[in-house]
Amino acid sequence: MDASEAVEAVISAARAFMGDRLSVNRTVREQHSRGEDTTPPTLPDAVAFAETTEEVSRLLALCHQHGVAVTPFGAGTSLEGHVNPVRRGVSLDLSRMTAVLEVNEEDMDCLIEPGVTRQALNAFLRDKGMFFPVDPGSHCTIGGMCATRASGTNAVRYGTIRENVLGLEVVLADGRVIETGGRTRKASNGYDLTRLFIGSEGTLGVITKVRLRLHGIPEAVSAAVSQFPTLEAAVETVITVMQSGIPVARIELLDDDQMEACIRYSKLTGFAAAPTLFLEFHGSPAAVREQAAAVETIARDFGAASFAWATEAEERNRLWQARHDAYWAAVALKPGHRGITTDVCVPISRLAEAVVGAKATARDSGLTSCIVGHVGDGNFHCLILFPEGDPEALERAWALDRAIVAQGLALGGTCSGEHGIGLGKREFLEQEHGAEALAVMRGLKTSLDPRGILNPGKMFRN
Ligand SMILES: Cc1cc2nc3c(=O)[nH]c(=O)nc-3n(C[C@H](O)[C@H](O)[C@H](O)COP(=O)(O)OP(=O)(O)OC[C@H]3O[C@@H](n4cnc5c(N)ncnc54)[C@H](O)[C@@H]3O)c2cc1C
Repeated sequence: MDASEAVEAVISAARAFMGDRLSVNRTVREQHSRGEDTTPPTLPDAVAFAETTEEVSRLLALCHQHGVAVTPFGAGTSLEGHVNPVRRGVSLDLSRMTAVLEVNEEDMDCLIEPGVTRQALNAFLRDKGMFFPVDPGSHCTIGGMCATRASGTNAVRYGTIRENVLGLEVVLADGRVIETGGRTRKASNGYDLTRLFIGSEGTLGVITKVRLRLHGIPEAVSAAVSQFPTLEAAVETVITVMQSGIPVARIELLDDDQMEACIRYSKLTGFAAAPTLFLEFHGSPAAVREQAAAVETIARDFGAASFAWATEAEERNRLWQARHDAYWAAVALKPGHRGITTDVCVPISRLAEAVVGAKATARDSGLTSCIVGHVGDGNFHCLILFPEGDPEALERAWALDRAIVAQGLALGGTCSGEHGIGLGKREFLEQEHGAEALAVMRGLKTSLDPRGILNPGKMFRN
């Protein structure tokens, strides 16, 4: 049987149990041909909209039997070519698996299907006094977040998705279904398979259920915005705050260009286009006041020009919405342009060198770029704009991306704090981990997916 006969065999067998939810419609296939990235799109042969674990299992067993590639797809917001089905086959869309299956209020955990978004989960939880804190700036699925080891603005206080997943249900490449982890807050009971699948980018298994830790909505929340004369002063403030152990809930950096973009896009009046920190504090009213006063003292010591409070929920939401829209604000700076974004993360003590170095390198390149970052974790993004449809400019943008990553690696950092490897960051994997560690990763892949059907071409260069 050749490759196209194998695909036909899978499509006709899967139709028997999925019906029209196994689509070969061109528009649907185009929608699954790439994510929010700049890789040339690839059309999958078919798109399967799964609704149950059993369907995922039957589909994977078929694809395993016939050697057909399967690329799991959540919301397609990933930024490194993760969902581009480079070997065609089936794009497996999990976005219709949206049930919240259990909420255990006493233990503060829940069990959900992978297509649930964090916005939907938080709307569901609101009247229970709990929330799920991991908040990427996109409308993505929690399955996709697990697969990319995502994080967001709250990670400095509540951790990334890795710290907030207690267990998973995973369908393996041959259709077997396993459960990992459990409901306890800790366990010393064998290999940590949950952590193996977190960040595996759809290359080791398909996540069909997720058990999450939840958190109590804090009694008091306050936000502040502090503006600085220089980027160094803003970053040095972050480093000192983190080294002082002040438990800030959010501490986000926007450079002058990003502030200008947000002022225009989100109508953020009353602020200057200057390096800025957005901060949020959670706790009792007294604790929140104390934390904020301590941060204000540090910011003033570094020459902060302002430290403005936002205690009203409406004003706070306006600020954080502007922060979440930073990517779209930056892209809107230059009509007809698209963006690629770096994701360097460095040890906190090297953050000033990394951010200031990235800004200088970006300025020298002549390309328009903005810096925004979850700097409390040492993670920042340089969003690089290039005219759409100009391959030479895209190549210059990638060269700048690579130069900033090289600077981050030289400071003991990583090429990706949260977006993942996909296609775009494969070249850095061996450099970061070494050949032996990479061989162990490949061994794991072969053991779990011997026929190499799951999201082939990603993570490793061949
Ligand atoms: C404007 C914007 C802002 C962003 N901000 C952030 C941010 O702050 N923090 C951050 O971490 N990321 C951010 N991202 C990146 C992106 O949103 C995350 O990587 C997100 O976790 C991807 O989720 P998704 O549902 O879109 O997954 P997809 O893009 O559909 O898939 C991502 C990867 O996960 C795999 N996958 C998806 N679902 C499953 C599943 N159920 N089982 C197994 N594998 C699966 C896919 O095969 C693919 O490899 C941002 C993106 C945009 C466009």
